[in-house]
Amino acid sequence: MIDLRGLYIEEMEELFKERGIPRFRAAQIFGWLNKNLAESFDDMKNIPKKLKEQLSAEFYISEGKIIRKLVSSADNTCKYLFEFENNTIIEGVLMKYGYGYAACISTQAGCNMGCKFCASAIGGKDRNMTAGELLNEVYLMERDCGERIGHVVLMGSGEPLDNFDEVIRFIRLINSEKGYNLSQRRITLSTCGITDKIYELMEEKLQITLAVSLHAPNDDIRKRTMPVAKKYPMKELVDACGAYAEETGRRVTFEYALIKGINDSPQCAGELGERLKNILCHVNLIPVNDVKGKDEVFTRSSDRDIKDFCAILRSKGIETTIRRELGSDINAACGQLRKGYIEDNA
Ligand code: SAH
Repeated sequence: MIDLRGLYIEEMEELFKERGIPRFRAAQIFGWLNKNLAESFDDMKNIPKKLKEQLSAEFYISEGKIIRKLVSSADNTCKYLFEFENNTIIEGVLMKYGYGYAACISTQAGCNMGCKFCASAIGGKDRNMTAGELLNEVYLMERDCGERIGHVVLMGSGEPLDNFDEVIRFIRLINSEKGYNLSQRRITLSTCGITDKIYELMEEKLQITLAVSLHAPNDDIRKRTMPVAKKYPMKELVDACGAYAEETGRRVTFEYALIKGINDSPQCAGELGERLKNILCHVNLIPVNDVKGKDEVFTRSSDRDIKDFCAILRSKGIETTIRRELGSDINAACGQLRKGYIEDNA
């Protein structure tokens, strides 16, 4: 069975043609799914019953539902737990900014990258999400909040570049004019830094924002918290980001979660500034969400240290911001809700 939600309109046209279904039906169904956010064939008013029956023999529309929703009393951030096929549980976060709604979605259930401070890494990867499901994460949130989602960040659980093909398909699908028509510039893909895949992404010539989780000024410190650093040295990673920025003209964001006593000293800030000084980039400092790792506890740096770190980077000419925290009262961070749910239901 083929999930209609995951198909480009051209693919749908081709498959329909082979089955003697008129071409315009593809545009109609694509519109039902991606403009009207239909959940099933039943929602598609102008599609004849007979055609629906014919389609149902070979095609389906993948299902997803919201199984839990938490709303932050501080800032109205919503955290969702979704259930997709095969009891796959993932989380998404909906944040309201001055400029509209931003949806943070998960590209994998769990994750194999093993970052020590990240709750999504704890049970390893369960499975990749498909392009159709990635769309549905956004659509489920839009249907729930009743307003258009203006930005999508691929920063939920999972490593997007470890699910490359489906993630690229998702970006092209949600960007499609005949569908949801979300500008590529309003999409951010966050990676832990799989260097060769960054070059592959560059070849796709997309206008999305690339965000790279650096979290350290050098390989020694990076290897302590991010196993991916053992395979992809920082020099090559930063070079790839420089190439990406040049090729696409898009400024790269480096994410840097400040962890007390690990990566937050003034020396670290100075070293990071040196490394990044010739790159079209922006650094986003994130106070780490306290996480108890397997054998270590990671705690956030003091506000004083965060401010100092920021000032040093700025003094080196690096554009730096400190991330505003949303939804900290509802476990909105990084895999914490899913982990809790799975533990409770184990
Ligand atoms: N795999 C991708 C995207 C998912 S994680 C990546 O690594 O970028 C999204 C962001 O949350 C990453 O920057 C990640 O390092 C960060 N993150 C994970 N756990 C965190 C924590 N406990 N506190 C703050 N940020 C965290």
